[in-house]
Amino acid sequence: MRVDSRREGPIITLDGPAGSGKSSTAKAVAKRLGFRHLDSGALYRALTLGLLRSSVVEADWESLSEQGFTNLDINLETSKNGFQVLIGGEAVDSELRTPGVTDRVSFVASLPASRQSILGLQRKAGEDGGLVADGRDMGTVVFPHAELKIYLIADLEERAMRRLRQIGQDCSDDFELARQASALNTRDQSDSQRTISPLKKASGAIELDTTGLAFEEQVQAIVDLAHRLTLL
Ligand code: C5P
Repeated sequence: MRVDSRREGPIITLDGPAGSGKSSTAKAVAKRLGFRHLDSGALYRALTLGLLRSSVVEADWESLSEQGFTNLDINLETSKNGFQVLIGGEAVDSELRTPGVTDRVSFVASLPASRQSILGLQRKAGEDGGLVADGRDMGTVVFPHAELKIYLIADLEERAMRRLRQIGQDCSDDFELARQASALNTRDQSDSQRTISPLKKASGAIELDTTGLAFEEQVQAIVDLAHRLTLL
């Protein structure tokens, strides 16, 4: 990983189910605190996109070794407020959020070799502190000694509505809402039932239910917690 400057400060982790607003909240909290933001989901999405672009057929993904995943050459480069994900040295962004990647990412993330292949990269991102990291296992596995751990939750229907709004779709369409809720629920089941690094509340994590909160309120709640714990 290429690191261009050092930042100091605590590590704050945000874990939670799909569509709970982790990444956008983590990004805004990091900006308010002058920290970097690590979106660990983007790394699992990059592994999935790397596989789709590779010559490895999908039926063989399950038997890939850690080296097989490392060969996909996923990397992080520091950017102004966070990290740019690279595949083979090339920046990737919107390609990480296509349905083809989203439909397969939880399967890829359930493979121990895939998780092991990017563990060091994630820990390196937090090596200097001053980090807000979001994902499923930030507080349990990647940064178990983080100074502040948050477990972000929201009702499934609320999460589905937020996701539809995010992708510019009509959230009053009951059919689309039910479809989105079902897709989020399928991903949550897979993420919380896998044997390695399942989605769960880390010990010592503070649960924050954002169902009734406006975006700015949830950002403020986490910034307030950081202040209250005199981490800053
Ligand atoms: O956060 P996002 O929805 O982009 O994550 C995509 C997927 O990556 C999740 O559904 C999960 O399967 C996987 N993931 C994970 N561990 C993380 C972050 C994401 O298993 N720390």
